[in-house]
Amino acid sequence: MTSFESFAELCMKVEGIGSSLEKTAILASFFSELDEAELLVVPSFVMGSAFPASSEMLLGVGPSTLYEALSKATGSSLAKIKEILRRTGDVGAVAAEVVEKRKPATLSAFIEADGISILDVHARFLDLARASGKRSQGVKMKHLRYLFGEAGPLEARYIARLALDDMRIGVGEGIVRDAVAKAFGASPEEVERGYNFTGDLGLVAQRAKAGRLSELTIEIGRPIKMMLAQLGAGIPGSVVEMGTVAVEWKFDGSRVQIHKKGEEIEIFSRRLERVTRSLPEIVGFVKEHVRAESAILDGEAVARGEDGRPLPFQEILKRFRRKYKVERTAKKIPLELWLFDLVYLNGRVLIDEPLRERRRHLELVADKKILASQTVTSDPDEVAEIYEEAIGAGHEGVMLKSPESPYAPGKRGKNWLKIKPVMETLDLVVIGARWGEGRRASFLGSYRLASPDPDTGKLEDVGWVATGITDEMLVELTDLFRDLILVSGEGMEVEMKPEVIFEVAFEEIQKSRSYSSGYALRFPRLVRVRDDKALEEADDLERVASLYATQRGRSGISSG
Ligand code: AMP
Repeated sequence: MTSFESFAELCMKVEGIGSSLEKTAILASFFSELDEAELLVVPSFVMGSAFPASSEMLLGVGPSTLYEALSKATGSSLAKIKEILRRTGDVGAVAAEVVEKRKPATLSAFIEADGISILDVHARFLDLARASGKRSQGVKMKHLRYLFGEAGPLEARYIARLALDDMRIGVGEGIVRDAVAKAFGASPEEVERGYNFTGDLGLVAQRAKAGRLSELTIEIGRPIKMMLAQLGAGIPGSVVEMGTVAVEWKFDGSRVQIHKKGEEIEIFSRRLERVTRSLPEIVGFVKEHVRAESAILDGEAVARGEDGRPLPFQEILKRFRRKYKVERTAKKIPLELWLFDLVYLNGRVLIDEPLRERRRHLELVADKKILASQTVTSDPDEVAEIYEEAIGAGHEGVMLKSPESPYAPGKRGKNWLKIKPVMETLDLVVIGARWGEGRRASFLGSYRLASPDPDTGKLEDVGWVATGITDEMLVELTDLFRDLILVSGEGMEVEMKPEVIFEVAFEEIQKSRSYSSGYALRFPRLVRVRDDKALEEADDLERVASLYATQRGRSGISSG
């Protein structure tokens, strides 16, 4: 059994190294000493996740739960913990410091312990993730207290970071993949392939150790990474670049990967979460309209409004997240299914077949009713026509796919290009901010935005922006706003004198009850600070409303 302490020492070592090659070598040597059970766990751990991406498990520990557990396990006050957090900007440093100073009377300080193992920590994390309902908070607290009670400062540093998915040792998929290859004498390509098939580098490492990497393949019931698209540079340019293209609507919905084995159906979301129970009609469509003994199908689920147009993304999320009373929500927000790819059929893996071949099989097994239509052409005008149709029907644009391309799981390559309208930006007033967490604790990391009501002049909330802010900007913005802070509100939030305008880009405007304006921005991103604009020049709610009405060709039809 490998101790968690030696894992923490590994992390400490890796954290201090800049070179990826060196990191890879150190990790490889650590991996090569682990047993098979540990290998299942450690690759995710070094990347900062308690579980692999494809696992059903989610830790669900937030900063406040963690601070409370640290406080209870060590006797340090919450105020003290926040103070160290401000000073260091690192939850790991906080944990190390308070565990170091632990008052002797607390918990197991008197117990002569052997130390916790990597598998102990993993087992506690599993229990934590399984806890649900009313008791879950208590269970989480119990396990975290136990872990911090048993841990020394170095172990606590990495338990805390792991619990918050904030490892900061600069190890990502690429390094782990290379380290697994190096540890067990496999090629990085073999390891990568195994990873794309299983979404689980732990499993890949375990098989590599056993010399059974080549046996890993796509299996029904285990999600594979989905192929992704790049943003194309307009229709003519993209068509010239690709030559012949297979054009499909880019449906405005949410990705589904469907596994069928006989009458058994499993559905996975874009993030490879199991969402089968939330989407009964999708299960029904597949049973009724797909004729295959076994298959893995790729497609988009779309929420259909009464007018036949797709509902905004937030509506479909309600379906994906719904665990109970599914039928009732399903009546309110019915789904359509549009299949566009087939990666496995009747025991055969099809990912290396060209798209046109996969499509041919897909057309043979799936009824038209659930099949995304596809046109193969090299004429930009024809593509433009299909694009207009898609936008006119309320969808996002088109996907251009290379007919000769294989299915590349997990890849955002040039074989799939998305063509979408360029969204306009909004100039919004900053009315508040939030101090960051972790590394960003001494900076204002997210900003509350507002738009004036044209009738009353009152600034109404439209949400927060935290994306698009580089480390450099973070320093500048914090300086800029420091003097504008009016009130330091609850916890990390501050109210701001409205003076600065942000130009903000976004994917979509949504109706929202969460903000006083009645609108929210989806995926807001700071484009720049408009220091050339006065407060009166901010975009008002009338403009927000008109952008909402016209986006995706919705032309005034409200569907929120
Ligand atoms: P994006 O999320 O903007 O990177 O665009 C990629 C997403 O578009 C995919 O993950 C799918 O959920 C969605 N999509 C909609 N229609 C299609 C289509 N015909 N082919 C592939 N992806 C599609």
